[in-house]
Amino acid sequence: MGMLLRYPSCSAARAQFPLAGGRPRRHFAPPVIRLLLAFFALMLPLQAEWNVVMCDNRRYVSVQDVATFYRMNQPVNQGDKFRISAPGRSIEGQANSREVLINGVKYVLCFPIFSRGGQILISAMDVVKIIEPIMRPQKIQNATAVRTVILDAGHGGHDSGARGPYGSEKDATLDVVLRARKLLQDNGYQVRCTRVTDTFIPLEDRASFASKQLNAIFVSVHFNKSNTGGGTGIETYCLAPRGVPSMDEESLSYSDFKQYPGHGRDPENIALATTVHAAMVRSLGLTDRGVKRARFLVIKNITVPGILIEGGFMSGSPDARMIDTADYRQKIAQCILEGVNRYKQAVAGQTVYQTPSAIVSATDPTSVPNIDKVGATPTPTPPPVGSKTSIDSSVVQAQESLQITKPGN
Ligand SMILES: [Zn+2]
Repeated sequence: MGMLLRYPSCSAARAQFPLAGGRPRRHFAPPVIRLLLAFFALMLPLQAEWNVVMCDNRRYVSVQDVATFYRMNQPVNQGDKFRISAPGRSIEGQANSREVLINGVKYVLCFPIFSRGGQILISAMDVVKIIEPIMRPQKIQNATAVRTVILDAGHGGHDSGARGPYGSEKDATLDVVLRARKLLQDNGYQVRCTRVTDTFIPLEDRASFASKQLNAIFVSVHFNKSNTGGGTGIETYCLAPRGVPSMDEESLSYSDFKQYPGHGRDPENIALATTVHAAMVRSLGLTDRGVKRARFLVIKNITVPGILIEGGFMSGSPDARMIDTADYRQKIAQCILEGVNRYKQAVAGQTVYQTPSAIVSATDPTSVPNIDKVGATPTPTPPPVGSKTSIDSSVVQAQESLQITKPGN
């Protein structure tokens, strides 16, 4: 799962983008080129020059360039493995894998890491959609201050969810939500719940309820089940960006290019997933199964930032026994509070020190590269990272056009 088994060819696409010369070129360029230029322009603020390599018809950049841009130490490679780091920050990964550890927290990348010509490469999509919002959450545009938290207890009524030896998922999720509601209210948040009793609420209704809230974020609480029995660990889902396969798929399908309301919140989604997931990894003591991507209805059809957590396996041990305890449920509720607090601080650019949280060091202004201050050469104003009109559309459109436009000419 999550490993790419193909070994597609790469072509060094020599695409280098000098910063100088910001002349409007749209009058000269055909549409496809315009899209590519828009994409390059978006990548530009990340560094003066990115050496872009085409792999599997996608744009990749070297881990070395990522390190340079984020002012981390140059990669330490061991075979197919790499690690880049700076005080309090690190990214570790391995070629032919879709998993990375960012500040000790596991993520499933949009596309696999490759090793080519002595360099380890990571997709431009992953730099934009995962690394950037995690490393610099304070740069996320449009991130509204959090006043309301929407809590969604998974399942309910005739829909029991997963059943384990100690009970049903619908009861455990409701108990966690009611505990989290109290904690959040005690800390000054407004809380809206999709359900507070054992009732069945259609998924569409949950999503439309969430989308009506202002200055809000959405947390859906679930527990896992393995069809083969057993299973252990926690995982957190956020919406797969447009043009990105869900975590259990290895190739793209037509539906992966559909635009959903949740795509307007891609950077917030990953930032929120990071803070809540990191809190759970730190507090719950179960295996870290990672921050993953999916297109569940409740996270794709909402207009507010949202995530779905899976707080352990109803069907496995030691999870099931722990989930049955008030102590464990209270811990999850506290993780939701902590994650919400950290998210709120992170997007506000406030410094928070505590490890291991992928967001923490990123919010330390002393350790974060500030593109506005880099070098003496004038740099263009960074475009709004995360704005749906820029990053979202351009990355995907550039990728789509690359499917039909062969690189290298
Ligand atoms: Zn569930």
